[in-house]
Amino acid sequence: MSIVVIADVKNRSVNPSTLEMLSAVKKIANKNNMPIYLLIPFGNIGGNSYCSGEFKTCILDLNIEQYSAPILVKYLSTVIREVNASYVIGLHTPFSIDYIPTVSVEINAQCVTQIHSLDVAEGITVTRASHTGKLDQHIVINETPIILTVLPGSFEPYTITNMQRKEIMTIHIPEEDKHGYCKFIINDIEDASLDEADVIVGAGKGIGSRENLNLIYEFAKVFPHSAVAGSRIVCDYGWLPYNKQIGITGKSITPKVYIACAISGSSQHVAGIKGAQTIIAINKDPYAPIFNVSHYGVVADIFEFIPQFIEFLQHNT
Ligand SMILES: Cc1cc2nc3c(=O)[nH]c(=O)nc-3n(C[C@H](O)[C@H](O)[C@H](O)COP(=O)(O)OP(=O)(O)OC[C@H]3O[C@@H](n4cnc5c(N)ncnc54)[C@H](O)[C@@H]3O)c2cc1C
Repeated sequence: MSIVVIADVKNRSVNPSTLEMLSAVKKIANKNNMPIYLLIPFGNIGGNSYCSGEFKTCILDLNIEQYSAPILVKYLSTVIREVNASYVIGLHTPFSIDYIPTVSVEINAQCVTQIHSLDVAEGITVTRASHTGKLDQHIVINETPIILTVLPGSFEPYTITNMQRKEIMTIHIPEEDKHGYCKFIINDIEDASLDEADVIVGAGKGIGSRENLNLIYEFAKVFPHSAVAGSRIVCDYGWLPYNKQIGITGKSITPKVYIACAISGSSQHVAGIKGAQTIIAINKDPYAPIFNVSHYGVVADIFEFIPQFIEFLQHNT
């Protein structure tokens, strides 16, 4: 019996949030005395820095530019079966979620997605949000194999010590399987403003219309080095471009301050804001889930609060 962690890929390298999964599974490994295999799906993404004496690193020599989910699923499943994995963990990102559920079908395992905590005190219990974050589901694992996908930002990153590159195992894939069915297109557009801003003001569906974004821009101007971003709905409506979307299918942000305006706080949105040093929420619903992850909360209508706040600053600074 063993544990397999499937490394996530971001911008042609291993996503650093992969280390968060290692923290999560260490608890299971210590409890059940199981070896951990870190499975890096592509040979050309520079995963060597993730090799450690504490777990066995295994690299499939597939090519990221020729990404093909069926081929990836085939070889991941082969390795998972060979190491007799009871627990398989992947990151809940658009890339990994493209193929991980299919792996669960292939190896006949249960699949629990979007977990944000894991408890090993009595048996193994994982927790995931439901009803747009208003409720938590606690799922007791009493059958394996099981596949879990972990929301980025949910666990502290694991610190790799005892680097031992000799632990690498490379699985060579036959040449005919290296030619994928589709080209994996990596979006190289990085939005510098969101990466560099000290303060990010996020607009949610509660702003009501594209025109009302002006209020959010006015609000952002109050803070030096600031930028405006939005929830997915705001981008789906076309009020902001998709490179301004924060969340699991958008950007993960790490500003000093994030101010969520009229955003409910779905788990998909929250996954992208956990790196913010301070989170402030303004929402007229006192039970909005965003208040569960905020350091400071303002229960108010943004159309009343923001103009008054700006006016207050104009008269007092
Ligand atoms: C696979 C998948 C991936 C997803 N990825 C993302 C993602 O990356 N990022 C993301 O954001 N979402 C994502 N979503 C969507 C997500 O589930 C939510 O639907 C979305 O985050 C909700 O956006 P919202 O908070 O703006 O809107 P809502 O949930 O509709 O919330 C609007 C909030 O505004 C408040 N409000 C209304 N009017 C006012 C007012 N005048 N003043 C103050 N408060 C007000 C309301 O009380 C409410 O809390 C994803 C969903 C799926 C299924």
